[in-house]
Amino acid sequence: MSDLNPCMTCGACCAYFRVSFYWAEANDGGGLVPAQLTEPLTPFLRCMMGTNSKHPRCGSLEGEIGHRVSCAIYPNRPSPCREFAMSGENDEENEACNRARARYGLPPLYKDMLFHTSLEAATSVLTAVQSAPN
Ligand code: SF4
Ligand code: SF4
Repeated sequence: MSDLNPCMTCGACCAYFRVSFYWAEANDGGGLVPAQLTEPLTPFLRCMMGTNSKHPRCGSLEGEIGHRVSCAIYPNRPSPCREFAMSGENDEENEACNRARARYGLPPLYKDMLFHTSLEAATSVLTAVQSAPN
């Protein structure tokens, strides 16, 4: 079993939601997000390039979803990415995280499953949770 953060073997939320934010989070507005990796959305909003499409995938997501992924601009990612909580974090489920994972055939995460990062390990823990006596 790996002790890696589950997000490092997931990436589903980076290829499920439109990642939009106030335009000035980009570095041509004084923020950190590389402007060339964003798309205009409205006069006041931008989104990460590739996320405003029928089959979204952020252009900054590297790797293969469900196996090994990373964010090419992690230190400079926009606020929605910073604020999106992995399900189970702080003992709280995040339905949106689990919905994105389901889109890619990944099992939901509960607080009991943190740090069980492989599909096999997560599935075995899920089975244990589901079959635990009340
Ligand atoms: S969907 Fe959840 S587990 Fe997957 S990368 Fe996003 S926050 Fe992490
Ligand atoms: S900027 Fe990084 S964390 Fe945010 S959606 Fe893109 S790849 Fe994911």
